[in-house]
Amino acid sequence: MSKIIAVSNQKGGVGKTTTAINLAVGLGYLGKKVLLVDFDPQGNATQGVGANTKEGALSVYELIMEDYHARDVIRKLSSPPIDIIPANISLAGADLQMVKFETGKEQLLKNKLEEVRDAYDFIIIDCPPSLGLLNTNALTAADSVMIPVQCEYYALEGVTQLLLTIRLVQQLFNKHLMIEGVLLTMYDARTKLSVEVQQEVRKHFKDKVYKSYIPRNIKLSEAPSRGMSIFEYDVRCEGAKAYAGLAAEVVKANRKK
Ligand code: ADP
Ligand code: MG
Repeated sequence: MSKIIAVSNQKGGVGKTTTAINLAVGLGYLGKKVLLVDFDPQGNATQGVGANTKEGALSVYELIMEDYHARDVIRKLSSPPIDIIPANISLAGADLQMVKFETGKEQLLKNKLEEVRDAYDFIIIDCPPSLGLLNTNALTAADSVMIPVQCEYYALEGVTQLLLTIRLVQQLFNKHLMIEGVLLTMYDARTKLSVEVQQEVRKHFKDKVYKSYIPRNIKLSEAPSRGMSIFEYDVRCEGAKAYAGLAAEVVKANRKK
C-alpha cells in the first residue's frame, strides 16, 4: 500500500524542504519506491535534488492546472534514487487562479496523484509556507501530515493554526487525514533553548514526536546548493545519520498498514 505524506508547517525556514528531500531520498535508499512532489513555488526541493527545470519544462503547475497526467510530468532521477514532480515559480499563480474554479479546487492535486499512487511506496509532498489553497490541496491529497518544528523561540507558534487547518480539511475534504508525526529540526544540544523546546514539544505531542531529531548541521544547509541530498553530499555526517534514522522510523510506523 502506498502512503502519501505532506510535510507541512506554514512557518517558513523550519526545515520542511530539507526534511522532504532527505526523508524521500532516505526512503529511496531503504529500497522504497518514492515520489517527491515539490509543491512550493520556490522550487527549493526541485533544485535541492539537482532536478533544475528548463524554462517551459512541465512542472506541478501544468499538472494541476492543465490537462496533463502525472506520468507526463514525473522525472526519474538515478542519483538520488527517487522520482520527482518539479515545481517552479509558475506555481505562485495557481493559488489565485484556482479560486475561480467553482468546484473541486481543493482536490486538484489529489485527483492527479491518484493515477500514480499505486506505483509508489511513499509519496512525499513538500508544502509551501502558507495555509492557502496550495496547502489545502496538499492536505487533501495526503494520507498524513509530518510537521517539522524548529527548535527555536516561538517553535509552536503557527502549529496551533496548522492543527486547526488540518481539522478543517478533515471535516471538509479528507476525513482520513492523520498526523504522521512531529519532527524536531535544527536541534542544538549546546543550547538550553533547544533542550527546552524539545521538552515542550514532547510534552504537547507525546508519542507523535519522532525519537529521531535533526541536529543543526552545516552540511544539511550546504547540500542543496550542490543539488544533492545529504546522502550524496556527506553520508557520514550527523545530518545524514539523523535523516536515515527518521526514514527507518517512518518505514517501521507504516509496516503492515
Ligand atoms: P522550509 O522549507 O521550512 O522553509 P528549509 O528546509 O528550506 O525550510 O530550511 C531553511 C534553511 O535552513 C535552509 O537554508 C536550510 O538549508 C537550512 N536548514 C534546514 N535544516 C537544517 C539543519 N538541520 N541544520 C542546518 N541548517 C538547516
Ligand atoms: Mg521549503
